[in-house]
Amino acid sequence: MSKVRVRYAPSPTGPLHIGGARSALFNWLFARRYGGTMLVRIEDTDLDRSSREAEALILDSLRWLGIDWDEGIEVGGEHGPYRQQERLSLYQPYIEKLLESGHAYECFCSEEELEAERQALKARGELPRYLGKCRKLTAAEKEEFRAAGRKPVIRFRVPEGKKIVVDDLVRGRVEFDSDGIGDFILVKSNGLPTYNFAVVLDDALMEITHVIRGEEHLSNTPRQILIYEALGFPLPQFAHVSLILGEDRSKMSKRHGATSVLQYRDDGYLPEALINFLALLGWSPEGEQEIFSVEELIQQFSLERVSKSPAVFDLNKLRWMNAHYLKALPVDELSRLCLPHLQRAGLMAEEVTAADLSWLEQAVAAVQEKMEYAAQAPELMRVFFGDTVLLDKEDEEVKQILSLETSVQVISALQQRAEEMDSWDSATVRRILKEIGKEVGVKGKALFMAARIAVTGQSHGPDLNAVLTLIGPKHAASRAKSVLEQL
Ligand code: GLU
Repeated sequence: MSKVRVRYAPSPTGPLHIGGARSALFNWLFARRYGGTMLVRIEDTDLDRSSREAEALILDSLRWLGIDWDEGIEVGGEHGPYRQQERLSLYQPYIEKLLESGHAYECFCSEEELEAERQALKARGELPRYLGKCRKLTAAEKEEFRAAGRKPVIRFRVPEGKKIVVDDLVRGRVEFDSDGIGDFILVKSNGLPTYNFAVVLDDALMEITHVIRGEEHLSNTPRQILIYEALGFPLPQFAHVSLILGEDRSKMSKRHGATSVLQYRDDGYLPEALINFLALLGWSPEGEQEIFSVEELIQQFSLERVSKSPAVFDLNKLRWMNAHYLKALPVDELSRLCLPHLQRAGLMAEEVTAADLSWLEQAVAAVQEKMEYAAQAPELMRVFFGDTVLLDKEDEEVKQILSLETSVQVISALQQRAEEMDSWDSATVRRILKEIGKEVGVKGKALFMAARIAVTGQSHGPDLNAVLTLIGPKHAASRAKSVLEQL
């Protein structure tokens, strides 16, 4: 194999979505696996929809995921510039070449004329396409159109009756009939190239060896192959990766979970988890292993094991995977991820002291096992905040424990003991609970559940000793008091 050169070529029309991230990742893994070059180029010839803001979001998303590139936008290289709008002068000679060789021609048809043609074809039950009305315009006719103020587009003259074969590394041999294509536009009337034209020129001039991209572009590929052939460029290898569907097998959309990569970042997912998850959206390793480090993915990734059938986006699996990575995270790092969510929920102040942070780390450690993503912090950790609690009277277990006579005694004793103290540590809490048990004559569930209800109002939650230690005696006392008042 000649030195691998792959590219990710986003159109900057919105944030980086799961599908785009997966394309970027597959290209990157392929480049890293084979010691190739990863390139990122911006396809911004759709002026109305492209923006620099979207470009920045996409690049930020790639960097956050840990996908880097050796050549391209921002990092530079020998095949620049890497934004299509800045490459227009490079395209010009190829436009002229195609016009001169007769592979392309100017078309002056108006939108109304084109629409009428489409309708007529549809009425005859044929595929709507351009039938080549302007193929044979004379110089004089063109002049007349120009004089009338019409601006031409440039169309590719699609040969008739030609079989176009895409030899796809994922999908195998896919054949297209040129008769279904119709002369397509290379250059729009505003002088800007279309996607199909610019992508070929860029991939050829940037010496891309493998075009790895989403299946939605498979139908564009025969057009692109015709342009490669007309210009005498060697074809790259194509690999079209299957669509990503939601669990209900419909096209992935917001209904199936966040679609933008930065949303996952903001919800407290880890890039390692998302990378691991995205890699398995269409690629399958040889064994049953599901958790992969980036190094393992690079060692094992291959296009041969990329599936032809659609990948299904399973949000629960992503959560499970993220939980796996969160469990392995040092608690200070996890605390840093949780803090903004707690601040936004008004549970922690904007300015935090070193003491707050060390308290937070202990609180986070108490819920780390349960956490699937950091945005869950307020919900999972609410129990550590506040001086009163709401008694969950509907909970069967709460009802059952409160029906024991001893429970009120445990709660009152806990209130009293806590009122006598200014601070306590986990060993003290353990001792106090033991003493209360002796005093009231209960142990096990009857003791610990009653104490849990006293300070949380609930029958479940993080480790009781951790809750008591972290809320401290003042809040333990006031919470127990508030529970007694709700009985
Ligand atoms: N700009 C195209 C897109 O974002 C890239 C297609 C391709 O990779 O050729 O869908």
